[in-house]
Amino acid sequence: MKIYIIGIGLIGGSMGLDIKELYPEATVYGIDTNENHIQEALDIGVIDSEGKFENLSNANFVIVSVPVDVALTVLPKVLDVIGENTIVFEVGSTKAPICEAVANHSKRRNFIATHPIAGTEFSGPSAAIKGLFQGKTNIICEVERTAFKLQEKALDLFKAIGMRIRYMEPKSHDKHIAYVSHLSHISAFMLGKTVINKEKHEQDIFDMAGSGFESTVRLAKSSPAMWTPIFKQNRKQVVKTLEEYISNLTQFKELLINEDYDAIYEEMESVNRIKEILNGMVK
Ligand code: NAP
Repeated sequence: MKIYIIGIGLIGGSMGLDIKELYPEATVYGIDTNENHIQEALDIGVIDSEGKFENLSNANFVIVSVPVDVALTVLPKVLDVIGENTIVFEVGSTKAPICEAVANHSKRRNFIATHPIAGTEFSGPSAAIKGLFQGKTNIICEVERTAFKLQEKALDLFKAIGMRIRYMEPKSHDKHIAYVSHLSHISAFMLGKTVINKEKHEQDIFDMAGSGFESTVRLAKSSPAMWTPIFKQNRKQVVKTLEEYISNLTQFKELLINEDYDAIYEEMESVNRIKEILNGMVK
């Protein structure tokens, strides 16, 4: 089996590690514009060999795991050169623009649109984690647009690496993910900014910051190169979630200005049910 991974970073690299363990007979090739990442991926055993775009016609699977703006141009080029039975999947955090970019491609039936809900705030092949996808959800969009026999092979691979499958329309995916992922990142970035701007002596932050601050601000370590195109592609939905979030923050501020502590208590108590929601969540 020949597997090509385009974009050997956290997600592509983690897929490479799992695939190499599950299918020892497979050869995993990496394609990346960052030569250091190719070398790192070879050194740590994330890939077996550097791949070439012109050899994609021999691939069984091509995994596209580049930033979402890059995916818009790379994905159609991949579909242009693959073989009849090659399965291509893309793992970006937005789905509607990517599905639209290949909607009329003659090889659309070789493509499966996915978003594995798994990751960390780190980037590059050294951030790859074996078992990252175990027990996590993979959202698949427009499954009916992928050839049935190729769908089956892709689903077998996703299940082998431990993923549960959820099907969703691209626009619904982008709408919901704006709340649970994109807004969380903006919120962490702006919390980090607020504290950094006020605490000019960074050591003071480290001395006083507890685990609560650290876990809340964790996502602010994420890569701007990855997140700027995500916010650009999902701008309308993200703006909507921000308006709702800002309104909640403003309302909370008003309660505090008015010293309405009963309302503040009730507000927090009503949100406490997030515990039950998260406990019952399919992760
Ligand atoms: P990453 O660690 O930064 O890896 C992306 C890799 O692609 C980097 O090595 C990057 O090189 C390379 N690259 C950039 N342009 C390229 C091109 N034209 N051709 C080939 N390689 C190129 O990013 P990631 O976290 O794995 O994210 C990859 C995709 O997964 C993104 O679409 C993201 O939305 C999605 N995703 C991420 C997470 C997460 O938690 N991180 C979760 C689910 C889905 P440079 O670093 O030099 O640019």
